[in-house]
Amino acid sequence: MPRVVAVMGGKGGVGKTFIALNTARILGEEGRTLLIDADVDNPCATHFLRTELVWRESVESFVPVIDRSRCIECLNCVNQCPEKALFHVPSKGVNLIPDLCNGCGVCKIVCPVNAVAEGRKVEGWIEFYKGTALDLLVGKLEVGSRREAFVIEKLISRASRMWSDYSYVVIDSPPGTSAKLYPIARFSDSIALVTEPTPLGLSDLVKAMNLVEKVRGGSRVVIVVNKSGLNREVEQRILEIARSRGLRVFTIPYRDTVPRSVAGKRIYVDIFNDDISQTLRELARELCKP
Ligand code: SF4
Ligand code: SF4
Repeated sequence: MPRVVAVMGGKGGVGKTFIALNTARILGEEGRTLLIDADVDNPCATHFLRTELVWRESVESFVPVIDRSRCIECLNCVNQCPEKALFHVPSKGVNLIPDLCNGCGVCKIVCPVNAVAEGRKVEGWIEFYKGTALDLLVGKLEVGSRREAFVIEKLISRASRMWSDYSYVVIDSPPGTSAKLYPIARFSDSIALVTEPTPLGLSDLVKAMNLVEKVRGGSRVVIVVNKSGLNREVEQRILEIARSRGLRVFTIPYRDTVPRSVAGKRIYVDIFNDDISQTLRELARELCKP
Protein backbone atom coordinates (compact mmCIF):
# COMPACT_ATOMS: atom_id res chain seq x y z
CA MET A 1 0.00 0.00 0.00
CA PRO A 2 1.19 3.55 -0.65
CA ARG A 3 2.11 6.16 1.91
CA VAL A 4 -0.92 8.49 2.03
CA VAL A 5 -0.09 12.09 2.86
CA ALA A 6 -2.77 14.74 3.40
CA VAL A 7 -2.18 18.48 3.23
CA MET A 8 -4.82 20.14 5.38
CA GLY A 9 -5.43 23.35 7.30
CA GLY A 10 -8.51 25.30 8.22
CA LYS A 11 -8.26 28.68 6.57
CA GLY A 12 -8.39 29.11 2.79
CA GLY A 13 -5.50 30.83 1.01
CA VAL A 14 -2.75 29.67 3.39
CA GLY A 15 -0.89 27.70 0.71
CA LYS A 16 -2.22 24.14 0.98
CA THR A 17 -2.12 23.62 -2.79
CA PHE A 18 1.41 25.04 -2.93
CA ILE A 19 2.58 22.51 -0.33
CA ALA A 20 0.59 19.60 -1.86
CA LEU A 21 1.91 20.22 -5.39
CA ASN A 22 5.51 20.48 -4.27
CA THR A 23 5.26 17.46 -1.96
CA ALA A 24 3.72 15.41 -4.79
CA ARG A 25 6.39 16.55 -7.22
CA ILE A 26 9.22 15.64 -4.80
CA LEU A 27 7.70 12.26 -3.97
CA GLY A 28 7.14 11.67 -7.70
CA GLU A 29 10.93 11.69 -8.06
CA GLU A 30 11.08 8.73 -5.62
CA GLY A 31 8.20 6.57 -6.83
CA ARG A 32 4.89 6.56 -8.66
CA THR A 33 2.70 9.23 -7.09
CA LEU A 34 -0.99 10.10 -7.25
CA LEU A 35 -2.04 13.63 -6.38
CA ILE A 36 -5.69 13.97 -5.36
CA ASP A 37 -7.19 17.43 -5.70
CA ALA A 38 -10.01 17.25 -3.15
CA ASP A 39 -10.72 20.98 -3.11
CA VAL A 40 -13.86 20.08 -5.04
CA ASP A 41 -15.35 23.58 -4.94
CA ASN A 42 -12.30 25.11 -6.56
CA PRO A 43 -9.88 22.47 -7.91
CA CYS A 44 -6.82 23.99 -9.58
CA ALA A 45 -4.06 21.34 -9.69
CA THR A 46 -4.59 20.77 -13.43
CA HIS A 47 -3.24 24.27 -14.10
CA PHE A 48 0.15 23.32 -12.65
CA LEU A 49 0.73 19.91 -14.20
CA ARG A 50 1.19 18.65 -17.74
CA THR A 51 -1.27 15.77 -17.73
CA GLU A 52 -3.81 14.24 -20.06
CA LEU A 53 -7.43 13.50 -19.20
CA VAL A 54 -7.95 9.71 -19.28
CA TRP A 55 -11.46 9.30 -17.85
CA ARG A 56 -14.30 11.21 -16.24
CA GLU A 57 -17.06 9.77 -14.02
CA SER A 58 -20.11 11.42 -12.56
CA VAL A 59 -20.83 11.41 -8.83
CA GLU A 60 -24.56 10.84 -8.44
CA SER A 61 -26.90 10.86 -5.47
CA PHE A 62 -30.34 9.43 -4.84
CA VAL A 63 -33.28 11.75 -5.38
CA PRO A 64 -36.85 10.57 -4.70
CA VAL A 65 -39.42 10.48 -7.49
CA ILE A 66 -42.94 10.12 -6.12
CA ASP A 67 -45.18 7.80 -8.14
CA ARG A 68 -48.57 9.46 -7.65
CA SER A 69 -50.42 6.47 -9.10
CA ARG A 70 -49.20 4.36 -6.16
CA CYS A 71 -49.08 6.95 -3.38
CA ILE A 72 -51.79 6.53 -0.72
CA GLU A 73 -50.83 9.82 0.97
CA CYS A 74 -49.95 8.23 4.31
CA LEU A 75 -47.33 11.02 4.75
CA ASN A 76 -44.71 8.72 6.32
CA CYS A 77 -42.11 10.17 3.95
CA VAL A 78 -43.08 13.77 4.74
CA ASN A 79 -42.99 13.20 8.50
CA GLN A 80 -39.72 11.27 8.56
CA CYS A 81 -37.67 13.24 6.08
CA PRO A 82 -34.78 14.59 8.23
CA GLU A 83 -34.33 17.66 6.02
CA LYS A 84 -38.03 18.62 5.70
CA ALA A 85 -37.52 18.35 1.96
CA LEU A 86 -40.96 16.84 1.32
CA PHE A 87 -44.30 18.58 1.76
CA HIS A 88 -47.88 17.64 1.08
CA VAL A 89 -50.47 19.69 -0.76
CA PRO A 90 -53.95 18.10 -0.50
CA SER A 91 -54.86 18.51 -4.15
CA LYS A 92 -51.34 17.88 -5.51
CA GLY A 93 -49.90 15.12 -3.33
CA VAL A 94 -46.32 14.88 -2.02
CA ASN A 95 -43.77 17.31 -3.45
CA LEU A 96 -40.00 17.64 -3.13
CA ILE A 97 -37.84 20.71 -2.52
CA PRO A 98 -34.73 19.41 -4.35
CA ASP A 99 -32.28 21.85 -2.75
CA LEU A 100 -33.12 20.55 0.74
CA CYS A 101 -32.85 16.84 -0.11
CA ASN A 102 -29.62 15.17 1.11
CA GLY A 103 -30.24 11.90 -0.74
CA CYS A 104 -30.48 9.81 2.46
CA GLY A 105 -33.23 7.55 1.05
CA VAL A 106 -35.32 7.46 4.26
CA CYS A 107 -38.45 8.36 2.26
CA LYS A 108 -38.00 5.28 0.08
CA ILE A 109 -37.52 3.01 3.09
CA VAL A 110 -40.57 4.23 5.03
CA CYS A 111 -43.00 4.18 2.11
CA PRO A 112 -45.41 1.24 2.68
CA VAL A 113 -46.51 0.95 -0.97
CA ASN A 114 -43.25 1.41 -2.86
CA ALA A 115 -44.34 4.73 -4.30
CA VAL A 116 -40.89 6.33 -4.02
CA ALA A 117 -38.86 5.55 -7.11
CA GLU A 118 -35.11 6.10 -7.41
CA GLY A 119 -34.07 9.16 -9.39
CA ARG A 120 -30.42 10.20 -9.81
CA LYS A 121 -28.88 13.64 -9.52
CA VAL A 122 -25.36 14.58 -10.62
CA GLU A 123 -23.56 16.16 -7.66
CA GLY A 124 -20.06 16.25 -9.10
CA TRP A 125 -17.36 14.69 -11.22
CA ILE A 126 -14.18 12.70 -10.76
CA GLU A 127 -11.50 13.10 -13.42
CA PHE A 128 -8.31 11.09 -13.83
CA TYR A 129 -5.31 12.67 -15.57
CA LYS A 130 -2.15 10.81 -16.48
CA GLY A 131 1.27 12.43 -16.19
CA THR A 132 4.80 11.09 -16.42
CA ALA A 133 5.82 10.51 -12.79
CA LEU A 134 2.74 12.13 -11.29
CA ASP A 135 -0.90 11.24 -11.98
CA LEU A 136 -3.81 13.38 -10.88
CA LEU A 137 -7.31 12.59 -9.60
CA VAL A 138 -9.57 15.62 -9.38
CA GLY A 139 -12.95 16.00 -7.66
CA LYS A 140 -15.31 18.68 -8.98
CA LEU A 141 -18.57 19.86 -7.50
CA GLU A 142 -21.37 20.20 -10.06
CA VAL A 143 -22.56 23.79 -10.52
CA GLY A 144 -25.46 24.35 -8.11
CA SER A 145 -24.73 21.31 -5.93
CA ARG A 146 -24.21 21.92 -2.22
CA ARG A 147 -23.04 18.38 -1.48
CA GLU A 148 -19.32 19.01 -1.13
CA ALA A 149 -18.86 16.40 1.62
CA PHE A 150 -20.62 13.75 -0.49
CA VAL A 151 -18.39 14.41 -3.51
CA ILE A 152 -15.23 14.36 -1.33
CA GLU A 153 -16.27 11.04 0.21
CA LYS A 154 -16.89 9.49 -3.23
CA LEU A 155 -13.59 10.90 -4.51
CA ILE A 156 -11.55 9.38 -1.66
CA SER A 157 -13.43 6.10 -1.94
CA ARG A 158 -12.74 5.99 -5.72
CA ALA A 159 -9.09 6.87 -5.11
CA SER A 160 -8.67 4.12 -2.52
CA ARG A 161 -9.66 1.55 -5.16
CA MET A 162 -6.77 2.59 -7.40
CA TRP A 163 -3.99 3.70 -5.07
CA SER A 164 -2.38 0.25 -4.66
CA ASP A 165 -0.73 1.12 -8.03
CA TYR A 166 1.20 3.94 -6.36
CA SER A 167 4.08 4.36 -3.90
CA TYR A 168 2.74 7.70 -2.66
CA VAL A 169 -0.62 9.43 -2.56
CA VAL A 170 -0.85 13.14 -1.73
CA ILE A 171 -4.25 14.67 -0.95
CA ASP A 172 -4.80 18.40 -1.34
CA SER A 173 -7.69 19.06 1.06
CA PRO A 174 -10.33 21.77 0.82
CA PRO A 175 -10.30 24.57 3.39
CA GLY A 176 -12.42 24.25 6.53
CA THR A 177 -12.49 22.14 9.64
CA SER A 178 -15.86 20.43 9.28
CA ALA A 179 -16.82 16.77 8.97
CA LYS A 180 -16.28 16.89 5.20
CA LEU A 181 -12.57 16.33 6.02
CA TYR A 182 -13.14 13.09 7.94
CA PRO A 183 -12.65 10.73 4.95
CA ILE A 184 -9.36 12.46 4.13
CA ALA A 185 -8.04 12.37 7.69
CA ARG A 186 -9.18 8.77 8.18
CA PHE A 187 -7.16 7.44 5.24
CA SER A 188 -3.97 9.45 5.84
CA ASP A 189 -0.73 8.08 7.30
CA SER A 190 0.71 11.54 7.75
CA ILE A 191 -0.78 15.01 7.69
CA ALA A 192 0.74 18.43 7.05
CA LEU A 193 -1.35 21.16 8.67
CA VAL A 194 -0.64 24.36 6.77
CA THR A 195 -1.24 27.72 8.39
CA GLU A 196 -0.10 31.32 8.27
CA PRO A 197 0.86 33.54 11.21
CA THR A 198 -2.36 35.53 11.46
CA PRO A 199 -4.97 35.38 14.25
CA LEU A 200 -7.45 33.56 11.94
CA GLY A 201 -4.71 31.20 10.75
CA LEU A 202 -3.89 30.36 14.38
CA SER A 203 -7.51 29.83 15.39
CA ASP A 204 -8.20 27.53 12.40
CA LEU A 205 -4.96 25.64 13.01
CA VAL A 206 -6.10 24.72 16.52
CA LYS A 207 -9.47 23.55 15.13
CA ALA A 208 -7.70 21.50 12.44
CA MET A 209 -5.40 19.93 15.07
CA ASN A 210 -8.39 18.93 17.16
CA LEU A 211 -10.15 17.43 14.14
CA VAL A 212 -7.09 15.38 13.19
CA GLU A 213 -6.61 14.17 16.76
CA LYS A 214 -10.25 13.11 16.94
CA VAL A 215 -10.33 11.27 13.62
CA ARG A 216 -6.81 9.99 13.20
CA GLY A 217 -5.01 9.94 16.53
CA GLY A 218 -2.06 7.83 15.34
CA SER A 219 -1.06 9.79 12.21
CA ARG A 220 2.24 11.63 11.92
CA VAL A 221 1.31 15.33 12.03
CA VAL A 222 3.55 18.26 11.18
CA ILE A 223 2.80 21.96 10.98
CA VAL A 224 3.80 24.16 8.07
CA VAL A 225 3.88 27.90 8.76
CA ASN A 226 3.62 29.59 5.39
CA LYS A 227 4.37 33.33 5.05
CA SER A 228 6.64 33.06 8.08
CA GLY A 229 7.68 36.49 9.38
CA LEU A 230 4.32 38.11 8.65
CA ASN A 231 3.42 38.41 12.35
CA ARG A 232 6.14 37.37 14.83
CA GLU A 233 3.84 37.39 17.86
CA VAL A 234 1.26 35.02 16.34
CA GLU A 235 4.03 32.85 14.90
CA GLN A 236 5.55 32.50 18.37
CA ARG A 237 2.17 31.34 19.67
CA ILE A 238 1.95 28.74 16.87
CA LEU A 239 5.42 27.46 17.77
CA GLU A 240 4.44 27.20 21.46
CA ILE A 241 1.28 25.23 20.62
CA ALA A 242 3.25 22.92 18.32
CA ARG A 243 5.87 22.37 21.04
CA SER A 244 3.21 21.60 23.65
CA ARG A 245 1.77 18.93 21.33
CA GLY A 246 5.16 17.58 20.28
CA LEU A 247 4.71 18.51 16.60
CA ARG A 248 7.55 19.41 14.25
CA VAL A 249 7.22 22.79 12.49
CA PHE A 250 8.43 23.75 9.01
CA THR A 251 8.54 27.41 8.05
CA ILE A 252 8.28 28.89 4.58
CA PRO A 253 9.45 32.52 4.65
CA TYR A 254 7.27 35.31 3.32
CA ARG A 255 9.09 35.94 0.06
CA ASP A 256 7.94 36.94 -3.42
CA THR A 257 9.34 33.80 -5.11
CA VAL A 258 6.39 31.80 -3.70
CA PRO A 259 3.54 33.91 -5.16
CA ARG A 260 5.60 34.27 -8.36
CA SER A 261 5.71 30.49 -8.81
CA VAL A 262 1.97 30.24 -8.10
CA ALA A 263 1.05 33.12 -10.43
CA GLY A 264 3.20 31.56 -13.16
CA LYS A 265 1.43 28.18 -12.62
CA ARG A 266 4.79 26.57 -11.88
CA ILE A 267 5.82 24.15 -9.15
CA TYR A 268 8.37 25.79 -6.88
CA VAL A 269 10.95 22.97 -6.79
CA ASP A 270 10.88 22.84 -10.62
CA ILE A 271 12.14 26.41 -10.92
CA PHE A 272 13.95 27.33 -7.70
CA ASN A 273 16.75 25.63 -5.81
CA ASP A 274 17.01 27.63 -2.60
CA ASP A 275 16.34 27.35 1.13
CA ILE A 276 12.55 27.12 0.50
CA SER A 277 13.08 24.17 -1.89
CA GLN A 278 15.27 22.54 0.76
CA THR A 279 12.54 22.98 3.38
CA LEU A 280 9.95 21.51 0.99
CA ARG A 281 12.21 18.48 0.39
CA GLU A 282 12.80 18.04 4.13
CA LEU A 283 9.04 18.27 4.69
CA ALA A 284 8.36 15.57 2.07
CA ARG A 285 10.97 13.31 3.72
CA GLU A 286 9.39 13.85 7.14
CA LEU A 287 5.89 13.05 5.84
CA CYS A 288 7.17 9.76 4.41
CA LYS A 289 8.80 8.52 7.59
CA PRO A 290 7.07 5.39 8.88
S1 SF4 B 1 -33.89 11.35 0.32
FE1 SF4 B 1 -33.86 11.90 2.50
S2 SF4 B 1 -33.70 14.13 2.50
FE2 SF4 B 1 -34.33 13.53 0.44
S3 SF4 B 1 -36.51 13.66 0.48
FE3 SF4 B 1 -36.00 11.55 0.96
S4 SF4 B 1 -35.93 11.48 3.20
FE4 SF4 B 1 -35.87 13.64 2.59
S1 SF4 C 1 -44.69 7.31 2.17
FE1 SF4 C 1 -45.26 6.61 0.13
S2 SF4 C 1 -47.47 6.42 0.21
FE2 SF4 C 1 -46.90 7.61 1.99
S3 SF4 C 1 -47.09 9.74 1.27
FE3 SF4 C 1 -44.97 9.13 0.92
S4 SF4 C 1 -44.92 8.38 -1.18
FE4 SF4 C 1 -47.09 8.46 -0.57
